[in-house]
Amino acid sequence: MSGGARHGAIHQLHGRDVSFPVLKRALLDVAHSLHSSGWVANHDGNVSARLEAGRFLITPTALSKRVLDETDPIVVDRSGRVLQGGRRPFSEFKMHVAVYDMRPDAKAVVHAHPPCATALSVMGVEVEPKMMAEPVVSLGNRVPMVPYGFPNSAEQIAQIREMAANFDVVTLAHHGALAWGDDLEQALMRLELVEHLAKIQLAAMQVGPLRTLPDADVSRLLEKRAAAGLGPAGRRGG
Ligand SMILES: [Zn+2]
Repeated sequence: MSGGARHGAIHQLHGRDVSFPVLKRALLDVAHSLHSSGWVANHDGNVSARLEAGRFLITPTALSKRVLDETDPIVVDRSGRVLQGGRRPFSEFKMHVAVYDMRPDAKAVVHAHPPCATALSVMGVEVEPKMMAEPVVSLGNRVPMVPYGFPNSAEQIAQIREMAANFDVVTLAHHGALAWGDDLEQALMRLELVEHLAKIQLAAMQVGPLRTLPDADVSRLLEKRAAAGLGPAGRRGG
C-alpha cells in the first residue's frame, strides 16, 4: 500500500471526517492529556486508533506521554509489526487488539493508570456507576474489572476479549483502566468518567458504606441508554 493512499485516508473524530495528520494530532493530544491529568507516570499508558486495512496508529513505547511529538507515533499491523515510523510498539498493544477484534465499531483505545480507579482495582473493588443517574446512561450499570492476570498473558487477553463484547470501559485489577470508543475523544471521555466516578466513590466510602440508586430507577435509566443507542447492545440494534 502506498504512503499516498495512507495519507489520503479518511478517519473519524467528533463525528467528522478527518485526515491522517489530524488523527495523529488527536492521538498526541490524548497522550499529552493522560500525562497532564496525572493518569500516567514514567512510560505508562498507551493510545491507539484503528486505520484501514488492519493497521493501527499507536503511541510508541519507552517515551513519556508528556514529550511525544509528530515524529513519534508509529503505524503497526495487528501483530505489532512496525509499518511506518522509527519507534517501537508498546507491549500492551495485545490488549488493544483484543478490543479491536471483538468490537468492529471501536476505532480507538486508551489505556492509563488513573490513580483513583487504579486504587480501587488494587483493592478488588469495581467502579460503581449506579451511584448517580448520568453514569448509568453513559456507561451502563457496571464498569467491570478484569481479574488480575500476568500482563499480556493469554488468560488476561481472553478476559479482556470477553468483557469487550459487552462493555465500553473496564478496569484491570492491580493495573489501571482501558476504554474504547467510536473515536479517540469518546474513548478518552469514558476513561475520564471512570476516574471521576472512582474519585467520588473513594470520597463517599470515607463517610460510610456506598449507597446506590434504587433498582427500579436503574432499570429506567438503562432503558433510556438503550433508546439513545448507547452501549454495545444499542449499537448492534438490540
Ligand atoms: Zn498499563
